[in-house]
Amino acid sequence: MPETETQPARVLERSAVIDLEAIRHNVRRLAAAASPAKVMAVVKADGYGHGAVPVARAAVEAGASWLGVAHISEALVLRAAGIDSPLLAWLHTRESNFAAAVAAGVDIGISGWELDRVVAAAREQERPARVHLKVDTGLGRNGVTIARWDSLVGEAMEYQDQGLLRVVGIFSHLAVADEPHRPETDEQLEAFRAALAIAADAGVDTEVRHLANTPATLSRPDTHFDLVRVGLGIYGLSPFIGQTSEELGLRPAMTVRTLVSNCKVVPEGQGVSYGLNYHTSGESSLALIPLGYADGVPRIATGGPVRINGTNYPVVGRIAMDQMVLDLGADAPRDGSLLGAEAVMFGDGLDGGPTADHWAEAAQTNNYEIVTRISPRVPRTYVNEVSPATAVVES
Ligand SMILES: *Cc1c(COP(=O)(O)O)cnc(C)c1O
Repeated sequence: MPETETQPARVLERSAVIDLEAIRHNVRRLAAAASPAKVMAVVKADGYGHGAVPVARAAVEAGASWLGVAHISEALVLRAAGIDSPLLAWLHTRESNFAAAVAAGVDIGISGWELDRVVAAAREQERPARVHLKVDTGLGRNGVTIARWDSLVGEAMEYQDQGLLRVVGIFSHLAVADEPHRPETDEQLEAFRAALAIAADAGVDTEVRHLANTPATLSRPDTHFDLVRVGLGIYGLSPFIGQTSEELGLRPAMTVRTLVSNCKVVPEGQGVSYGLNYHTSGESSLALIPLGYADGVPRIATGGPVRINGTNYPVVGRIAMDQMVLDLGADAPRDGSLLGAEAVMFGDGLDGGPTADHWAEAAQTNNYEIVTRISPRVPRTYVNEVSPATAVVES
C-alpha cells in the first residue's frame, strides 16, 4: 500500500482502505484472460465489502463492459449513482421490484416464475424488459431445470414476439470451477451447450451467453463464451486453494488496518479474554486491537495474524465483539512505542503481511467471506480514485 501525505485514510483509527488502482489492475488482468469474451464485474454485496459504487466505476474505467449484482435493489443503487452500464440482477423474490428494474433499464435474470411478473412490469412501464434466461446445469440453486428449459424458452419467445421483452442473454453458474480437476465442470459445460442449441432452434438470438465465474475465467477458456462474470478476482483474491493472488497476477484491493489501542506488560500465567482460554507462558506484552466480531472479524478465527511494525502476531484468546488481543512475547519494546502503532489485519501481503487467505484459514472459511463480512462499522476509504494513467494525461 503506497503511503503519501495526501491519503487521510491512514489517519483514521480503524478503516478498510480500498485501492481502486488494484481494482483496475485486476479488471485489466481478467479482461486479458477472458478476451475476446467481455467482462461483467460482479459488485453484489456492496462490491464484496469494497463499496459497490466506487468499485463499479473503477471496473468500468478499466474495461468491464457489464456489471452484475444479485438483487434488483443493489442494481438500483448503481443506477441512482449515475452508472449506466449494462447491468444484470439475478436473484429475486415475489416482492422484488421488477417495475423499477424495467424503468431503470436493469437486465433481469429469469429462472422461471419471474417471467410473468417481468412481463406485467413491462406492460406497466410500457417498455420491453431485458431478460437473461438462466438454466440450471448442475448447481441446484437458481435457474430452470433442463426438463423445463424448452418451455421457458418458448414462453419467453412468445413474449418477445409481442414486444414485451428482449431475450438479451442465456446463462448458468458453475459449481466446482475452483477445483479444476473435477469432472462436473465438463458436465455443466455440456449441459449448457445443449441448452444453447435448444434456444437457437427456438429462434433465440442472444447478445451474450455467459457461464464462467472467476475460477473458470482463469482456468477454463472453453467456458468463456461471450461474457465472463467475475467477482472475487476483481478484488484481487485467488479462488484456488494453494495459489496466491500474486501467482495469478492479481492484487488484493482491501487493507483492514487500525491502531494498537493498548499495550501492557503482564506476568506469566495471565489469562486473556472471555473464557480465559489462553494464558501467557512467561512475562509478556499484550497488544489490544480494536476490531472484533461486530467489525466482521470471525469469532472463531483465534490464531489469525495481525502485523505490527513488520512482525505478524497471532490473535490469542477469544475474539470479542469489539476487540482482540495479540501476545507480543517477551522481546517487544516496553517504551510505550507500540501504543498507537499501526496494526494491519490483512492487506495485499506483498510485504509478508497477513492476507484475507490467512484469515480464511484461521476461520475455516474462504477469502470471499472474510472481505465481504467486514461490517459497516469499519469505514471504507479509497486510494487511487483517479487512475494514474488518467492523471498523467491530464497534467
Ligand atoms: C457471485 C456470482 C458470480 C461471481 O463469482 P466469483 O467466483 O466471485 O467470480 C458469478 N455469477 C453468479 C451467478 C454469482 O452469483
